[in-house]
Amino acid sequence: MDRMVTNALVNGRVLRDTGFVDGLAVLIDNGCISAVVPRSDARVDAAVAHDLRGQRLMPGFIDTQVNGGGGVLFNDAPTVESIRAIGRAHRRFGTTGFLPTLISDDLHVIETALGAVREAIRARVPGVLGIHIEGPFLNPERKGAHDRAKLRTLDRAAVELLSMPTGGRTMLTLAPEMTDPDTLRRLANAGIILSAGHTNATHAEVKQALGHGLRGFTHLFNAMSQLGNREPGVVGAALEDSGSWCGIIVDGYHVDPVTLRLALRCKPVERFMLVSDAMPNVGADIGEFMLAGKRIVVRDGKLLDEAGTLAGASLHMAGAVANAIKLLGVEPAHAARMASANPAAFLGLDAELGRIEAGHRASLVLADDRLNVLETWIDGVPSRAG
Ligand SMILES: [Zn+2]
Repeated sequence: MDRMVTNALVNGRVLRDTGFVDGLAVLIDNGCISAVVPRSDARVDAAVAHDLRGQRLMPGFIDTQVNGGGGVLFNDAPTVESIRAIGRAHRRFGTTGFLPTLISDDLHVIETALGAVREAIRARVPGVLGIHIEGPFLNPERKGAHDRAKLRTLDRAAVELLSMPTGGRTMLTLAPEMTDPDTLRRLANAGIILSAGHTNATHAEVKQALGHGLRGFTHLFNAMSQLGNREPGVVGAALEDSGSWCGIIVDGYHVDPVTLRLALRCKPVERFMLVSDAMPNVGADIGEFMLAGKRIVVRDGKLLDEAGTLAGASLHMAGAVANAIKLLGVEPAHAARMASANPAAFLGLDAELGRIEAGHRASLVLADDRLNVLETWIDGVPSRAG
């Protein structure tokens, strides 16, 4: 696709706010969607046309939780090259925007990772939108596969470090009960997107945190206090609150599909976002890898440590969208939005990403009905050129 001329994507089934629509042309100028018009519009004839052969054209998928891919684990080498490799591996599965995700580690590793993301954004590495720092300010009782030795309290030095600008978004997963409301407020005021995860908080503690800048929940249901009869827990607080976003891992293993279907009835579907929680094996032909000194094996679509604890997912975004349709009974249009418009809104990027709309960046994915990805564009550049 030539960046100097107007390109027209024609003959696709285009995801709009009303659902998938035929007979439209998406005009792209200089990396942005300049108009979405009927195929018969005169502007289409003046543009360079690309025939989408009746396949589904969706906003590119945005993954807010991706630990690795293509054989690379971000924690192992938090560098620009790792970010590029992870982005490249996941782009084959429709991801055009992502937050490389660092699991609990030492502050100096967090600092290196923040620096790498800043460099990657400056170098225009395709798709990188910021960073997700998952831990180490977590509750050891809900640590999951995180290394207990890395967990720590959120002190002033850590707040300062996390506030370091990268040019993109910084998302922080923390256990709100392990810190105080003032600290949450300070982080939120610094522009950090706060998400509760690996937390044993009570319903009351989460409510308080929501009033002090908490914006979302990391892998809802996993590694958090559950909905109980006398204590609604983090899950109860997340489902009760209609304003916050919930990341969900829809791989069929992390959460029973019945439980997720019930969750979807509790708050607007716009507040759910699909995440991959992917590890190095996605987009690479490897059967095991090391995570925080532990051997993780890939078995029957699951990633397990030696104790049998799930350690991330063997999932990519196209698979997550397909699973949302198949396992949760979500309409294809809604499933696609759970991977695009919804995370874009969570990140505060909905004015530029997540919809096929004039003025938005031309970050798009073309897939067939089974969610096999055929092509992606990031800022108008197709993958075959990138
Ligand atoms: Zn986690």
